[in-house]
Amino acid sequence: MQESYTDALNNPIFKIISEAAEELSVDCYVIGGYVRDYLLKRNTPKDIDVVAIGSGIKLAEKVASKLEGKPQVSVFKNFGTAMIKSDGIELEFVGARKESYQRDSRKPIVEDGSLEDDQKRRDFTINALALSLNKNNYGELLDPFNGTADLENKIIKTPLEPGVTYSDDPLRMMRAVRFATQLNFQIALPSLQAITEHKNRLKIVSNERILDELHKIMLCKKPSLGFSLLHKTELLGLILPELTALQGIEEMEGQKHKDNFWHTLEVVDNISEATDDLWLRWAALLHDIGKAPTKRFHKKIGWTFHGHEFVGSKMVAKLFKRLRMPLNDKMKFVQKLVLMSSRPIILSEDYVTDSAVRRLIFDAGDNVEDLMTLCEADITTKNPKKQHKYRQNFKIVRQKIEEVEARDHVRNFQPPISGEEIMATFSLKPSKEIGIIKEAIKEAILEGEIPNEYQAAKEFMLVKGKNLGLVKTT
Ligand code: ATP
Ligand code: MG
Repeated sequence: MQESYTDALNNPIFKIISEAAEELSVDCYVIGGYVRDYLLKRNTPKDIDVVAIGSGIKLAEKVASKLEGKPQVSVFKNFGTAMIKSDGIELEFVGARKESYQRDSRKPIVEDGSLEDDQKRRDFTINALALSLNKNNYGELLDPFNGTADLENKIIKTPLEPGVTYSDDPLRMMRAVRFATQLNFQIALPSLQAITEHKNRLKIVSNERILDELHKIMLCKKPSLGFSLLHKTELLGLILPELTALQGIEEMEGQKHKDNFWHTLEVVDNISEATDDLWLRWAALLHDIGKAPTKRFHKKIGWTFHGHEFVGSKMVAKLFKRLRMPLNDKMKFVQKLVLMSSRPIILSEDYVTDSAVRRLIFDAGDNVEDLMTLCEADITTKNPKKQHKYRQNFKIVRQKIEEVEARDHVRNFQPPISGEEIMATFSLKPSKEIGIIKEAIKEAILEGEIPNEYQAAKEFMLVKGKNLGLVKTT
């Protein structure tokens, strides 16, 4: 006898769908993520997919007419799907279908089909599980491809021969990696091989969809699982060649440098323990990309990556453009963090002076906390002594940041003396002297020669003006 999962169907919405389907004399099933996540005891998902053996759109309309408040049905005629939002849940209805694909497009030719036809076209066995909403077998699990066994064994497998599934819709390659990362599952070996073999098919997938999956991977608890799978299947080189370029260790005259690719993945995992902010995670992912083009070997000092932060921050802009990511404040944030990524490290290696901390706060502004988080995540040394020392030093830096900021307010530095006041004081027309004086005041504050206060800055201005041969006229 088939096992029954009526418990999964406690939400009263399922009875309503069931009745609507009976009135229309069509069979229907809950399918996909909802069933998978129920069996995995994951949080109840916000969307429920229903497949009708017949018109999904008609079923949706019938269901809506039975619901309180008669919610609107959004119909996507081209896809043969319909969506209802009810009680914060998104209900997706689709007619069971059979698909065949053309080589150059992710858009299939669609015909009506049976439940099993529909399950076959699903991406993975664990996403092809269906629960009956029909009176005669309500709650019965229909699992023709052994998805439940794959759930138990934590494995991502395709219902069809993997080469077919991935080549038909190459977005599934990204989805395989994404689900493996989210669920902490393995991708079955034939799938891994098929993905590698068909990797170039990714070219027919839009940037937007690729990014969507990449972001889901990046927001996982341990993003490195996904990135190492992308690397293993050679998809990563197609999406982020800047990262794969970091892989490898070179040795010259007995001197090695670290593998900056695997180091980067560690940094991303570390930062993911500290923050859910996608863009801060991006900064971690890209913080070392400038190291590939700046790598040099010098006989006396060994391996160097001079200026990699600057080069890296320029690469960020190009990368964002290529992937059609937003070229807005998010990008600027990532660029700034990459550019400044070594600053607190230099501080933490040495005795931390107030003026160095003031400069750090001045340059990082509101991003100083995020920058510290990035630098702490950057500690991947396996040497416990060094590890301890760096952490301690960062603690001191953080403490000093608070102290110095409370006293000197340089985080969003506003010059205490305006250009207008300098002009009025010395009867100056716009000229380079004004800039020189303003800069000197700023420097004096950052160096701690004067406090960040009006009176002190004014006195300093008068002295500075005098030194420049200016005469006070007011
Ligand atoms: P989640 O919503 O947590 O990302 P999900 O499994 O619900 O997971 P959706 O993208 O919402 O994923 O898709 C719903 C269902 O539709 C999937 O479970 C799967 O059966 C099917 N599906 C989605 N995208 C594809 C695809 N590219 N190829 C084949 N089947 C797919
Ligand atoms: Mg879903």
